[in-house]
Amino acid sequence: MLNKFKPTWMVESIYHITPEQLEKNNIKGVLTDLDNTLIAWNNPEGTQELKDWIALMKENAIPVVIISNNSDKRIKIIADKLQLSYVPRSMKPSRRGYIKAAEQLQIPLDQCLMVGDQLLTDVFGANRAGVKSVWVMPIINSDGWNTRINRFFERKLLKRLLKNDPGMIWRKSLD
Ligand SMILES: [Mg+2]
Repeated sequence: MLNKFKPTWMVESIYHITPEQLEKNNIKGVLTDLDNTLIAWNNPEGTQELKDWIALMKENAIPVVIISNNSDKRIKIIADKLQLSYVPRSMKPSRRGYIKAAEQLQIPLDQCLMVGDQLLTDVFGANRAGVKSVWVMPIINSDGWNTRINRFFERKLLKRLLKNDPGMIWRKSLD
């Protein structure tokens, strides 16, 4: 059961993920959470670093799709600005959004990578869907009330995960 919450990789930020690392791991498409993974809630424009990362993925023909539990209305504004496709109201950790996104990309689930800042939604959902995952540090530490509850359980989970695998540390790449 515990392993269902274990990410494949722990990387400090999505910006550290490069096309070379993806290729090495036979990953053809990136699914990503929105809030606190791509953008901070108080900066919906996204940073220049994010824009550069998206451009790098595009240059290397690696599609990026946002999977979010947020409403269509909110994600559309941000996704349009970043020129990314998206799956709204995906009900993570349900498998639904992952499957939908992979179908959109026409890439098998096991060649997709999910990037997200929450073990209980992003990583758990990825494991259920058979998608490899990267757990990233949240961009900023303030969360909404529902995320705060998740964080409480996440801290407990992490303690147990670390007991089984002390090698779980934040890194700067997939390597
Ligand atoms: Mg998030």
